[in-house]
Amino acid sequence: MMITIDGSQGEGGGQVLRSSLALSLVTGRPFTIANIRAGRKKPGLMRQHLTAVNAATEVGRAKATGASLHSTELTFEPGEVHPGEYHFAVGTAGSATLVLQTVLPALLCAPGPSTLRLEGGTHNPWAPPFDFLVKTFLPLVNRMGPTVEATLVRPGFYPAGGGEFRVTVTPVGNPVGHGGPTPPGKTTGGTPVPQRPTLRCGLEPIELLERGKLRRTRAKAMVAHLPLSIAHRELRLIGRKLSLKDRDLKSVELMNSRGPGNIVTIEVECENLTEVFTGFGQRQVPAETVAEKAVQQARRYLSKDVAVGEYLADQLLIPLALAGGGAFHTLGLSRHAQTNIEVIERFLDVRFEIDKESPPGCVVRVSR
Ligand code: ATP
Repeated sequence: MMITIDGSQGEGGGQVLRSSLALSLVTGRPFTIANIRAGRKKPGLMRQHLTAVNAATEVGRAKATGASLHSTELTFEPGEVHPGEYHFAVGTAGSATLVLQTVLPALLCAPGPSTLRLEGGTHNPWAPPFDFLVKTFLPLVNRMGPTVEATLVRPGFYPAGGGEFRVTVTPVGNPVGHGGPTPPGKTTGGTPVPQRPTLRCGLEPIELLERGKLRRTRAKAMVAHLPLSIAHRELRLIGRKLSLKDRDLKSVELMNSRGPGNIVTIEVECENLTEVFTGFGQRQVPAETVAEKAVQQARRYLSKDVAVGEYLADQLLIPLALAGGGAFHTLGLSRHAQTNIEVIERFLDVRFEIDKESPPGCVVRVSR
């Protein structure tokens, strides 16, 4: 049964498409989507989204109709998911980490390990920066059972791009009798009729209700083909505002980037997880302003007693849904996360309960 998705729902961004692709691969359920990214200034498939569609098509031996640049409609019919060696290149500075976000769920559920080579942007605004991926997101995925490792080969910044990272995905071994949630599907006498069975991912639910003791806060400022003084100015501000010691401030000159770039990350390491907050350097924006943006996010997190930050909250939804359980405490769900929940519920038979009676934020609980 073809699922019909309205790409303009919620905030009408690329997440609706990416989550649909990811879950179509896992469940084997085809979907058709109209109004792709209708809520964005330049709607339709940009290079990054098209690469994500093509990557999903390759991994899932799928048939895609409408997979062309600027297309606002797509029909996607997945076949079997194949683990293996893949190379996906965005071709512009578009985010390669969002391409990974599209295919990772299926590869976590695949019947064997995979290695990926991803090219494009690695540190883009409005996408998970590579550092967030390795420090925040993947350790939590790994805590659910699989082993996913990512290595940066070369950073890629807007507008030059040219970044590259490698990822190895080893799914939970031999997950006999431990299936993912069944898709809702059309029912005949109460029995779901999927196109093919939902892949068994063997992911274990996790609960992130407290972040635990604060262990260490560190900041790293990276520059590529720009004066190192930019990094020093950023770190000076962060060190002062967050009272960090010199040994927790690190400047890095990235020599192998194709073009110029600057980002600063603040890594808040707690007992139960590490959160990474990022400021992205931009032309005409003073280094202090870039650093201040990261400081504000880190302060907001540190001042509230929650475990999960805004971005991590929306990225945890699919892994928890695949595990069929788990919970986290966060400050409140962004529109982005709410839209993601709506899409997930179209593909998987899971329920998200949002308990708002947990000040200062809410607890998101997933169940079958
Ligand atoms: P598009 O702009 O192409 O329509 P989109 O609307 O899906 O795409 P966003 O809503 O900006 O794009 O977010 C994309 C993803 O990037 C989300 O999963 C979000 O959590 C993540 N993300 C954005 N910024 C950060 C950040 N600073 N740190 C970590 N993750 C981030």
